[in-house]
Amino acid sequence: MSGPGKTTVVIGGASGIGLATARDLLANGHAVVIADLDGDAATARAVELGSGCEAAAVDVSDEASVTALFDGVIEQHGSFDGVVNCAGVSTLSLVVDHDVAEFRRVLDVCLTGAFIVLKHAGSRIVDGGSLVTLSSLNGRQPGVGLVAYCSAKSGLQMLTQVTALELASRRIRVNAVSPGLVVTPLTAPAMDIPGIKDDYLDNTPLGRSGEPEEIAAAIRFLLSDDSTWITGENLDINGGSHMQRYPDIHGHVMKAFA
Ligand code: NAP
Repeated sequence: MSGPGKTTVVIGGASGIGLATARDLLANGHAVVIADLDGDAATARAVELGSGCEAAAVDVSDEASVTALFDGVIEQHGSFDGVVNCAGVSTLSLVVDHDVAEFRRVLDVCLTGAFIVLKHAGSRIVDGGSLVTLSSLNGRQPGVGLVAYCSAKSGLQMLTQVTALELASRRIRVNAVSPGLVVTPLTAPAMDIPGIKDDYLDNTPLGRSGEPEEIAAAIRFLLSDDSTWITGENLDINGGSHMQRYPDIHGHVMKAFA
């Protein structure tokens, strides 16, 4: 058990990696608050997960919504020990064709949203607490057509490090995890496009996609007292893909819809 008595907020916890993380943390003794854009979905997941799990609605790109989330958690629990921010969105477009509003939408959730979460979690979390951000293989590997997502996830790694430096005096640790391909509602639609999954797997030395539970286990470690000397780290969890090249997602999409 890594977290008896700890209260942890999982943002984006109603789906995919966040949901697996909420389940894992509950099984390991955390009280968990699932917070998500869709408050009804968060409530439904919290009911399914049962005792020890609560739900809240939040939009990470809206500062008032994020402050209301953390103030509500403090009102309910007195304090909180950990936050995992899994909220994320993506888009596909070449730089020269990119709609500016669409670029801003992705940055707003993946980078500015993460900043707002770290700002208000950092000012309220207990001393000695732990904050985990979700970057990506795309934080280090560029992908054609993924300029908004890659820019956000790369910036998020630096955001994580600066926050780690600034909060270290309170023993608050701030780390990122960077998954490779994990099939979730975010990535599942791309798996139906011929060539994309094969290209990923050809470029993954361990030869398979990851499971949400494998990312959740690493997040639990970073929240736990087994990682008390780790901060400002970015943990690649991708079957070795970071040692190879990123698949040509845009090329496969163009071929499929030509
Ligand atoms: P997911 O299943 O789509 O889960 C993301 C959750 O975030 C969804 O419930 C989504 O709600 C929520 N969300 C979106 N915008 C939000 C906002 N403004 N405020 C609050 N919540 C918001 O995706 P996932 O695959 O688990 O991804 C989790 C994180 O890991 C993301 O940051 C993603 O970029 C990162 N990641 C994923 C992979 C992968 O292969 N799956 C790889 C690398 C990194 P809605 O569904 O209502 O939009």
